[in-house]
Amino acid sequence: DEKLENKVVLITGAASGIGEQLAYEYGRRGAVLSLVDIREDNLVVVAEKARSLGSPDVIIIAADVSKLQDCRRFVDQTVNHFGRLDCLVNNAGIGKPSGFKDWSNASEFTSIMDVNFWGSVYGTLCAIPHLKTSRGRIVVIASALGWFPLPRFSIYSASKAAIINYFETLRMELGCAIGITIVTPGVVKTDLGVTLIKEERIMDIIPMLSASELAESIVKSACRGDMYLTEPSWVKVLFPFKLLYPPLV
Ligand code: NAD
Repeated sequence: DEKLENKVVLITGAASGIGEQLAYEYGRRGAVLSLVDIREDNLVVVAEKARSLGSPDVIIIAADVSKLQDCRRFVDQTVNHFGRLDCLVNNAGIGKPSGFKDWSNASEFTSIMDVNFWGSVYGTLCAIPHLKTSRGRIVVIASALGWFPLPRFSIYSASKAAIINYFETLRMELGCAIGITIVTPGVVKTDLGVTLIKEERIMDIIPMLSASELAESIVKSACRGDMYLTEPSWVKVLFPFKLLYPPLV
């Protein structure tokens, strides 16, 4: 098993779902953790469990990743506390089915892009100087919808496609100074995953991944230095089913 003793790992969106399970996976391997979320109450519980699983030190930071000044603050606080940063996991994300008919609620549209895309970019830009020093790694959670968009997920899919393109470009700009693992999961059993499939009858036939199994694959993949983790492979087969969707007009 990969040992990450005293590596400093910062995870955004760590209060629930995939981020929470990532905290346990990294904690189990001996990493010290900086856990960031907009919901501070849950973070306290996650931090305690990560410590009990083997993380030598955990700090929690309440912050909104869609605000640049918050991202500066959580990166600075992490480096001030631990003295370095080895891995940034851009995991915080939101999603809600939104087709062109929902356009009247513009702030809901823009917040999906703000949190998913800009949140990942801001955190990354603030962390790059420290990751360069440690020759560290960035892990970013995009989505299978970034490859295979679905009707009613236009903005969510676009935010994830933007992530894939941004980080692919960044990989070229950074060369081998900092490694990047782009993760594109199918449907995962979390609060967000359940909300998404409730609205999508076609997704009833898609088996859901468990967040803890996914987290284990992500950490292993990042440790191996993989550029991509596409979980699971069947999404490629199922997504052409989108042709069966009735048009919205
Ligand atoms: P989740 O809702 O269980 O967890 C997301 C966490 O992010 C929450 O704790 C939430 O409070 C936090 N968060 C939301 N907005 C934030 C903000 N502005 N600043 C800081 N924290 C914020 O969802 P999840 O399923 O664990 O999602 C994690 C990531 O995985 C997301 O990027 C999501 O898009 C992606 N993903 C999820 C699925 C799925 O089916 N669940 C599939 C593919 C990709």
